Amino acid sequence: MKKHNYSAGPCILAQEVFEKAAQAVLDYNNSGLSILEISHRSKDFVAIIEQARALVLELLKLDPKEYTALFLSGGASHQFMMVPYNLMQTSGKAAYLDSGTWANGAIKEAAFFGETVVVGSSKDQNYNYIPKGYTVPEAVDYFHCTSNNTIYGTQMKEFPAAKVPVVCDMSSDIFSRVLDFSKFDLIYAGAQKNLGPAGTTLVVIKNRILGKSTRAIPSILDYEKQIKAQSMYNTPAVFAIYTSLLTLQWLKKQGGIAAIEKINNQKAELLYHEIDRNPLFEGTVRPEDRSTMNATFLLRNMAHAPIFEALCEAAGISGIKGHRSVGGYRASMYNALPIASVLVLVAVMQELESKV
Ligand SMILES: *Cc1c(COP(=O)(O)O)cnc(C)c1O
Repeated sequence: MKKHNYSAGPCILAQEVFEKAAQAVLDYNNSGLSILEISHRSKDFVAIIEQARALVLELLKLDPKEYTALFLSGGASHQFMMVPYNLMQTSGKAAYLDSGTWANGAIKEAAFFGETVVVGSSKDQNYNYIPKGYTVPEAVDYFHCTSNNTIYGTQMKEFPAAKVPVVCDMSSDIFSRVLDFSKFDLIYAGAQKNLGPAGTTLVVIKNRILGKSTRAIPSILDYEKQIKAQSMYNTPAVFAIYTSLLTLQWLKKQGGIAAIEKINNQKAELLYHEIDRNPLFEGTVRPEDRSTMNATFLLRNMAHAPIFEALCEAAGISGIKGHRSVGGYRASMYNALPIASVLVLVAVMQELESKV
């Protein structure tokens, strides 16, 4: 039986994506070859990566003359280092918003390259809100923020005005809601949260921010060289990129980001409503900062945990355990999670209420 998969990442993808990807492993497009055994320089794969790169910009409504989409290797964490490597001047400075574990990881890596200015932090409350009321200084090379804090279940609803390039880690909410993506100069996202399987990272760059640093950059870490090589400086993650393309095509067929956002909001409202209504549960995040992607919540009485978890398991709910730094539960409701799965979880929460 197919589970109701609430895993935070790698995570659920659309069923039709799984089926098409599985078919391509056996025989890609009736070519007599598996997607796993074709050359990345073959006509077939070049068409795949070109379509994927173009579809990313189309869905984000970004001008392909101004922006470039790359599928790089190394995960979102790799971008923690690649961003300062490319964008920080030698002995430069960058501003960071500290909204959680991943933001912190990015700050630590940037410190290898220059000075980091933390403009706001919610560490004092174990990151249960988004820092607000800060200003982005002008004398920095860029400002970095994390749009959705996967571990803590907070999400930025607004982004600050900045006179410097804005860099955003959108790993866990890219393609989930409409934003004016042209306000961002560099967006990156590990594929495994809302785009595809693990193994590739999407980077979307406004071309004109590049070429400003005097730092010598090793070729494979140099965005300009990656752009020149059409995102194929070395062998890219062929299967992960193909499956990402299938997901992008699926998303377009659903009506794009605006259509999926409506469903994401319905799912989030259903679950948060139950968390607030049900006396056995409580949310961990300030209501105004709640993420539509990752809902974090606790049982008020931990003695109920074994019963709740057994009910979840019996209902086919998987991957709902909270991250160790928050505890409790985390329901990740990425684009491909059907509303029906949320209804099952809400029913289980109500069943628990009637049982204890
Ligand atoms: C998962 C995640 C990361 C880390 O991604 P990797 O691909 O494992 O390096 C970074 N940032 C955010 C917001 C994430 O959710």
